[in-house]
Amino acid sequence: MNASFGSAQFIQSLPVPRATCRFHVLIEAANFPYLRRYLGCARADMLVEDMAARLRGALADARVRTVGRNLIELDVAGDAPHELDALMAAACRAFEAPLDLDGEKHRVKIVIAGAVGTWQADEVTLAEEAERALAKAREYDKPVTQAIEALPHDAKKLAEELDLAIGRDELVLFYQPKVHARRQEITSAEALIRWQHPTRGLVLPGDFIPVAEQAQLIRRLTLWTIEQAILDAGRLRDHGYDLRLFVNISGQLLSDDSFVAKACRMVAESDVALGFEVTETSVIRDPESAIANLQRFADIGIRVAIDDYGAGLSSLAYLKQLPARELKIDKLFVTQLTSSNRDPLIVRSTIDLAHALDMEVVAEGVETHAALALLTVMGCDMVQGFLISRPIAFDAFVSFLREDRHRRAPETTRNSFNRLAATWKRG
Ligand code: C2E
Ligand code: MG
Ligand code: MG
Repeated sequence: MNASFGSAQFIQSLPVPRATCRFHVLIEAANFPYLRRYLGCARADMLVEDMAARLRGALADARVRTVGRNLIELDVAGDAPHELDALMAAACRAFEAPLDLDGEKHRVKIVIAGAVGTWQADEVTLAEEAERALAKAREYDKPVTQAIEALPHDAKKLAEELDLAIGRDELVLFYQPKVHARRQEITSAEALIRWQHPTRGLVLPGDFIPVAEQAQLIRRLTLWTIEQAILDAGRLRDHGYDLRLFVNISGQLLSDDSFVAKACRMVAESDVALGFEVTETSVIRDPESAIANLQRFADIGIRVAIDDYGAGLSSLAYLKQLPARELKIDKLFVTQLTSSNRDPLIVRSTIDLAHALDMEVVAEGVETHAALALLTVMGCDMVQGFLISRPIAFDAFVSFLREDRHRRAPETTRNSFNRLAATWKRG
């Protein structure tokens, strides 16, 4: 029989690198259904033990455990995150030779994924990271895998690449509209950065913003973002859309006076409207200078929004001192809105709090009609989320605006709206 060998690799990154690391690797027989059909259930169920034996022979330092009829996990200690590559390569090599199953040679095609964390890393988080990575490894399988196979766990290398990318055309801003819940109008959009990496493919900000922050690249990257948002706002106006574009500003920049001065100069010299999104946690780090600098932004007409509200550290004392005009409720609460008992209460009281502080409320992570309906009933001012649009490239965003596509979701929502409005008001 001739089941071919191959491997789909996906490495999920964790905020790592310091002294000693631990690796958690998952290995699955991708062609298990095929082998089971050929071998029969009873023999196929023992296959995973044969695979584990192979791995124990090849990787003496690893703790190898079978955790399902088709899944093996490896736990290994190491000195540096990049060792994960070598570990996974060694695991793949263990299956290059076919397995001997009752005198017959069978090749096992594997899907492999791994996560790396510091020695202190939480075991559950590490396991979850590896599981997420495995899901992606399955999804992308071979052809896609090649492009993303070395997703950043080597922060130093990634930082060097990012340093070069900022000056090139590799970074791009995608836009996600914020829709006024009652008026169904788009008056602003959030700029979300993406990295079109020449070999890794599209890299999302969660994978490189922390690296940029650690490697002192965030200042240059954010100035690039502001410059690009100013250009894009001008291009949108040329298309007939006068929108305020919001840029995310990392916490560490809020106490960087020279960044603040430069950003203010850029915005003041432009003739477009911008907004800055900052998290409350970043303000709490150095409240005095953060509040003063946010005031400088507000003074020149930059609209300040508090991002991810509820997800990090919150302080009512600071909240009321911030010159913020918008409060964005973290998607954590919004995605669970209609399936949890507590979250609607939290969201409702956050909306009331924001209104009492004279802020508009934006709910991020609106994915369902039911959530949109409930948020509208609760008096949420604006909504943002996949239900209306994913973040999309500039040209697609212009088409979205031209076709008034944001009105489609609220129309379908009307039925949910009436039902939920009745329930919520009763309860
Ligand atoms: P954020 O500012 O809270 O941005 C919202 C994130 O939620 C985006 O992820 C967006 O794609 C995602 N999202 C939007 N709607 C939905 C939804 O309905 N459901 C779900 N599950 N997710 C939704 P993205 O683009 O991966 O950005 C992640 C984070 O990276 C941002 O969180 C922001 O903190 C940071 N980021 C993005 N662009 C920049 C940037 O230019 N500069 C800085 N410093 N940080 C950035
Ligand atoms: Mg944001
Ligand atoms: Mg957010």
